[in-house]
Amino acid sequence: MKEYARKFYKSTAWRKCRNSYFNYRHGLCERCIGPGKIVHHKKYITPENMDDPAITLSFSNLELLCQNCHNREHHERNSSVVEGLMFDSNGDLIQTGGK
Ligand SMILES: [Zn+2]
Ligand SMILES: [Zn+2]
Repeated sequence: MKEYARKFYKSTAWRKCRNSYFNYRHGLCERCIGPGKIVHHKKYITPENMDDPAITLSFSNLELLCQNCHNREHHERNSSVVEGLMFDSNGDLIQTGGK
């Protein structure tokens, strides 16, 4: 997780937006109708657009995904993502597996 993104994901504006989107989607993953966990940005946040609420806080740029669908999304788009990396409920990258 880049520092600029970390700051964004900790913001009150994002937490509120994330919660209302989660409720709006009834907590269901939009791809497999499993229990949704992560609100994903279809257009990824970059330092250039992170101050643009039309990107960061707009429902049209959000997608509620379960852990599996979210991992798949990032695996497909970014082949450098290593197996065993997961995302927590804030969309932060966390390390799993191993000891
Ligand atoms: Zn899913
Ligand atoms: Zn994502």
